[in-house]
Amino acid sequence: MTAEDRILYSRQSISTDDIEAVVAVLHSDLLTQGPCVPAFEQAVVAQVGSACAVACNSATSALHIACLALGLGPGDHLWTSPITFVASANCARYCGAEVGFVDVDPVTGNMSVAALENRLIAAEREDRLPRIVVPVHLAGLPCEMEAIAALGRRFGFHIIEDASHAIGARYQGLPVGDGRYSDITIFSFHPVKIITTGEGGMALTLDAALAGRLQLLRSHAITRDTQLMSHTPDGPWYYEQTGLGYNYRMTDMAAALGISQMRRLHDFVARRTLLADRYDQLLADLPLRLAPRSEAGHSAWHLYIIRVDAKDRLALFEHMRADNLIVNVHYIPVYRQPYYAAFGYPPDDYPEAEQYYREAISIPLHPGMSEQDQDRVVASIRRYYAEKAA
Ligand SMILES: *Cc1c(COP(=O)(O)O)cnc(C)c1O
Repeated sequence: MTAEDRILYSRQSISTDDIEAVVAVLHSDLLTQGPCVPAFEQAVVAQVGSACAVACNSATSALHIACLALGLGPGDHLWTSPITFVASANCARYCGAEVGFVDVDPVTGNMSVAALENRLIAAEREDRLPRIVVPVHLAGLPCEMEAIAALGRRFGFHIIEDASHAIGARYQGLPVGDGRYSDITIFSFHPVKIITTGEGGMALTLDAALAGRLQLLRSHAITRDTQLMSHTPDGPWYYEQTGLGYNYRMTDMAAALGISQMRRLHDFVARRTLLADRYDQLLADLPLRLAPRSEAGHSAWHLYIIRVDAKDRLALFEHMRADNLIVNVHYIPVYRQPYYAAFGYPPDDYPEAEQYYREAISIPLHPGMSEQDQDRVVASIRRYYAEKAA
């Protein structure tokens, strides 16, 4: 087996147009703070709806300033799903807030609405309601946002959708990110995600005032807008730092790549969907659970996560890795990470997340995969079960 025989669980797809777009920026005057970042923001808004977009150097930094813009601070609580990348929780810790985890739905692995409601009722009695809830669209499959938004109104919390997996997904027929059911939506453009800028992320919102706060926080909280200043300008050079912000800006090279990638968003999701449908057919007769689907939402198919008997998971994982199929597990429940475990989150509180973690395997799925590549993945899984039966 050579490196070319490896099939990764996910991988970027880069065209000559993408390369030329980045090179054009390298020949221009402005490598950062030029025209590409606002153009990329507009390109995303044009496709997913919403009103305002703020591009950042990662989804992690977008999550951080989203929390700050919604007023999260010490003494506050942010709740998210335990079946996610650590960044969905870390954003609260950056603000000095406490993290709570809500157990997941046994079918989708997304935050369970029933578990959320039960926890909210208990938290209300103890006066420990969260300021922010962060549902995560796992693998690109939308959460039950209408129900989560209704709980948000009832219990008075803000919602940040962690849509790192879900640009191009649809919920109730409309694009994830249009802002109907949340205050802010976050996309990630890491190379394993649906589109890439190398590193990058974006925060979308319908609320112009919130977008203004996000823009300030992205760049040192510095403004040149006299309306926002507390002093009269000393001269035309004058700018003012209005608070404590960060340098979370995206470069123009990254944004140019993003603009070019956005032109293929539809094709990427269509190709992922075709391969996912094909997995459904080719794996249907095996003793495993296919990747979940939902009636309300169309996944962007960032990941194709099967669930196998807990007794098979390690052996199948090793069998496939030996076949040069770079499978993965998404995710280790965040409360199990030593950093979080030190705060004390008894795993018994999250029976569905624990069950999920014993069974999940992400098998290769990305737009550059051929159908022959996919057949190799399926053949490897079949051989595992055939050898086990023999
Ligand atoms: C990838 C990812 C992030 C972080 O994205 P970066 O752009 O790498 O910072 C956050 N949340 C989830 C669910 C992710 O998968």
